[in-house]
Amino acid sequence: MIQTVRGVRDIPPEESAGWLFLEEQARRIFQQYGYRELRTPIFERVELFARAVGETSDIVEKEMYLFQDRGGETLCLRPEGTASAVRSFIETSRHRSLPWRVFYMGPMFRYERPQKGRYRQFHQIGCELFGPAGPLADAEMMALVLRLLEAIGIGSAVTLEINSLGCPVCRGPYRERLTAHLHERRTQLCGNCQRRLERNPLRVLDCKEEDPALLHEVPRMLDHVCDGCQEHFAGLTGHLTDLQLPFRINPFMVRGLDYYHRTAFEAIATGLGAQNAVAAGGRYDGLVAEMGGVSTPAVGFAMGMERLLLLMEEQRIPVVRPDLYLVVAGDRMVDGYGLQLAEQWRRAGLRVEMHLSGGSMKSQMKHAGRSLAPVTALIGTQETAEQTVTLKWMESGVQESLSAERVLERLLQTNA
Ligand SMILES: [Zn+2]
Ligand SMILES: [Zn+2]
Repeated sequence: MIQTVRGVRDIPPEESAGWLFLEEQARRIFQQYGYRELRTPIFERVELFARAVGETSDIVEKEMYLFQDRGGETLCLRPEGTASAVRSFIETSRHRSLPWRVFYMGPMFRYERPQKGRYRQFHQIGCELFGPAGPLADAEMMALVLRLLEAIGIGSAVTLEINSLGCPVCRGPYRERLTAHLHERRTQLCGNCQRRLERNPLRVLDCKEEDPALLHEVPRMLDHVCDGCQEHFAGLTGHLTDLQLPFRINPFMVRGLDYYHRTAFEAIATGLGAQNAVAAGGRYDGLVAEMGGVSTPAVGFAMGMERLLLLMEEQRIPVVRPDLYLVVAGDRMVDGYGLQLAEQWRRAGLRVEMHLSGGSMKSQMKHAGRSLAPVTALIGTQETAEQTVTLKWMESGVQESLSAERVLERLLQTNA
């Protein structure tokens, strides 16, 4: 027997209703905000992610699925969505008609240790907005994220956290100040942070190993940003207040790479343990130029679908059930009559599940019950001869005999 590869899984029909629901809500809400879907290839050149995600990041160093195609070119399965969106933006010269609002959803691939809720093929939803540089864009994007979380029923379980990461003007001086401060306390840092202190002192701020008392004392970016960054941040918090979106400032939220500018935000879920960010985003004004395009401000976010679905599990996800189950018992004439009616009802928009495996009326009724359809249509020799249908309402057990024409009317009426 051939089994699935370690770290990947099927999404069975019992679960796919939840996935569809999440995807439908995302599409609906993104479109309300003017976003259109961008579908990019599943595989790309390795250099794309080396540049966009960072040469020394764990993703690029250890987690990418690399392969050589038959032409000898080294390619990789996409580990995230932003890099491809930026590549597409540059490749199609979209900077000529800004703003450009796109969303994406689909599978991503990372060779990580599989855990509950974490797979090597996982799924992300994200939005990218190219063009606007001001805090209005940041605020609108956060509103969009929270609207989606609300629509899937987990809005009240989530807190919005924001921070400023500064800009090329003010980040350098802050970094020096932070490095000097941490240098004096070097021996108190974890081994990992001691090693990367010169290269990336900011990572100390979100290191889970560090003593909270030590972190409490470190200089904070927000206290050392330039006037431009200060104004941007004040604008953002003002807009969030206008929208009555509750938020918390988290001075320890960082991003590893230099092209992140100013705003960073996360939606944090209470109740998912340590891995609790359900959405992470921010402004990456330096990335388009870094990747060889015309310098363009941009802001975006991504969310992991598996994690959202774990949170949604307790919520009511609508179950897809047939509107009608059709039972036919008799000869070929009866089958033919039933088949024709089923097609007619489907054309009228109903979800009709027809029993195809024969058997007694009694055993067919058992299947009808399991289908969760609210009503079963029974067709036997008598119904076929009279061109009628017997409807059985499953909850009350009430039966009624109707002419074929009346049935559709009756069904559409109860479905409205
Ligand atoms: Zn600044
Ligand atoms: Zn550390």
